[in-house]
Amino acid sequence: MLLVSAPILGVPEKAALSKVIDSSWLTMGEQVQLFEESFARMHGAEDCVAVSSCTAALHLILHGLGIGPGDEVLVPSLTFVATANSVLYVGATPVFVDIESADLPLMSLAEAEARCTPRTKAIILVHFAGYLANREQWQRFARARGLHIIEDAAHAPGLREVGTYGVAAAFSFYGNKNMTTAEGGAVIAKDPELLQRIRQARGHGMTSGTHQRLNSRTPQYDVTMLGFNYRMDEMRAAIGLVQLQNLQEWNEIRRILAVLYRRHIATRCPAVTVPFSGPRTSAHHIMPVLLPRYADRQDVIDELRDQGIQTTIHYSPVHQMTLYRELSPGTHLPRTEDFAQRELTIPLHPQMTSATVEAVVEALATAVNSCAQAGTAA
Ligand SMILES: *Cc1c(COP(=O)(O)O)cnc(C)c1O
Repeated sequence: MLLVSAPILGVPEKAALSKVIDSSWLTMGEQVQLFEESFARMHGAEDCVAVSSCTAALHLILHGLGIGPGDEVLVPSLTFVATANSVLYVGATPVFVDIESADLPLMSLAEAEARCTPRTKAIILVHFAGYLANREQWQRFARARGLHIIEDAAHAPGLREVGTYGVAAAFSFYGNKNMTTAEGGAVIAKDPELLQRIRQARGHGMTSGTHQRLNSRTPQYDVTMLGFNYRMDEMRAAIGLVQLQNLQEWNEIRRILAVLYRRHIATRCPAVTVPFSGPRTSAHHIMPVLLPRYADRQDVIDELRDQGIQTTIHYSPVHQMTLYRELSPGTHLPRTEDFAQRELTIPLHPQMTSATVEAVVEALATAVNSCAQAGTAA
């Protein structure tokens, strides 16, 4: 089965894990510190905080900013549910914003403006599929309204621009992301005081960690805030350090494969459209395509599966999930809903070749054409 995404793991990761096991220091030690330094450096940041997931990262950012009950946070609905959940964790209200268009499925500025209220405190931008939101446009908007910009950068690790939009950015190293630690995440924040609050809240609000106490020989610590256990362990950090060395090369392979996809789709099945037709910096996390309205998506999914090709959907809109329908009934985002109904995510990962890209497009063309013929016959 050709999977939508597949992690690349091998001998170097095994060796890194063995070293950690031999060292007998299993969590929050040298590997985590090295990983934080390397990840920050790659993004042109001074420092970062490694955590247990991107969800934890988003929660810590909102918590560190003091966002809470009575506050509203603008979020896209075309995202993973964790983006909105993090807002609920701090007792604030996520306000869903529609996308710009089917070709530009990022949060719409005009819609964000329309949904702003005096209670709006922050905006979480998602670089959907790895494609970066327009930084200057959002910064102007946030400055005029006095809003914090938070980046959910789960799809866009390794790009220099990421982490520079606003107060902080959250990253994911889940198994299907551009680089993985199995489970894991990181926070980049511009303000060192905010980053320090986040670092402390990651470990129960304690004033020092186990490793620091070992090195400083002071067994005492204090707890000065209600924190969480969102720590990263040494095994994950060690894997992350290896993965990080490959991230730029993997992102470049993803870019080349995406270019090939666009070229083949345009010639072999032009009824299928690929969003983000204009030039835009991207980490190419996934390859979303839009099926023509006459195509039955389930038929296409089934036909590709029969050919050994996995496909997925990004995303079922968050505002249409039962939890969110109950919390904010009556939310209607027509462009998000239309996009989500027609979207199909086809395989994209650095172990694919130009031949696999061609094979996927051939299978897609056959599946979509048979929908067209079925439509004509009916
Ligand atoms: C994967 C993902 C998350 C959550 O990441 P975890 O590390 O699994 O918590 C959040 N937002 C987006 C957009 C994602 O794709």
